Amino acid sequence: NHQSGAGTPASPSTGSSSQSENAGDHKSKTIRIGFVMDTLVEERWKKDRELFRQAAEQRGAEVIIQSADGDDARQMVQAEKMIQQGIDVLVIVPHNAEAAAALIQKAHHAGIKVLSYDRLVKNADVDLYVSFDNEEVGRLQARAIIKQVPKGKYVYIGGANTDNNAHLFKKGVFDILQPLIERGDIQVVYDQWSKDWQPAYAKANMQQALQANRNRVDAVIVANDATAGGAIEALAEKGMAGQIPVAGQDGDLAAARRIIKGTQTMTVYKPLQQLAGTTADMAIRLARGEKIDTRQKVNNGKTEVPAVLLQPIAVDASNLDQTMIRDHFHSREEIYGPV
Ligand code: BGC
Repeated sequence: NHQSGAGTPASPSTGSSSQSENAGDHKSKTIRIGFVMDTLVEERWKKDRELFRQAAEQRGAEVIIQSADGDDARQMVQAEKMIQQGIDVLVIVPHNAEAAAALIQKAHHAGIKVLSYDRLVKNADVDLYVSFDNEEVGRLQARAIIKQVPKGKYVYIGGANTDNNAHLFKKGVFDILQPLIERGDIQVVYDQWSKDWQPAYAKANMQQALQANRNRVDAVIVANDATAGGAIEALAEKGMAGQIPVAGQDGDLAAARRIIKGTQTMTVYKPLQQLAGTTADMAIRLARGEKIDTRQKVNNGKTEVPAVLLQPIAVDASNLDQTMIRDHFHSREEIYGPV
């Protein structure tokens, strides 16, 4: 039940402060957290940024936040700067799951622990991973769609090939579809990634899927709501928006509105407040040098990374109120318009 390695010095003790340090100082020192984000393009990341800042500050920590705007080199520079500025722990949303491994090495060289936020860094000694059960996200999408279309031609439009989550979402979807594919009930007639999660690529993918099948497709599963928006634009061009089920993910406001309108069937809501809060707790504990034992571990190609995976929730027109609205993720007015 122990995770060894992971950049932890060979100290067997938990929680006790090191000899050289005055315990009082240790407690009172403000912990500085560096949060390097990939992007702020999708609506959710703006929420993550604010929720994480709040969560960390409520717990008495200080946060420095930067977004790399989808640029690996920039993400590296931003992390290096934070390390120089003397952060106590680094929280990262990697742009590229593999490329970010170098950044973890840099942090470890400086004695700084790294927590992977929402997206896992692959092939690196990640100290902790806090995310949602991302395969479950895909399973929720597929279950909702096969209920409506138990037989027919399916289109799958994936996210960024460079994002580990995109692979997990897809795995979840196909785990559910596979038995139906084998039975011959479902045929997947199109399956492509969308570069950097860009809606424009998802739209082009949907256009191709329609063209290749002379518009005869019965259901569409898209990796997130922003790309689902692109796919729905392509359907709308053929007068097909609202005619066939479309699944997305993230609980974006635009998606909630499309669900009301009937052009999108469902989304998967991930309570980001939980993600931000759990991460803030864990980051502070890592900064204090505490050893964290988690029930789950996720293999990232190099180690079994201790992980906390939160539960995603399927949302359609029937439960918007009891989920996103109840949690103030979006207000009732934002979704339904002014009364
Ligand atoms: C996140 C999604 C997000 C996507 C694009 C994924 O890693 O889990 O919530 O929509 O990245 O930014």
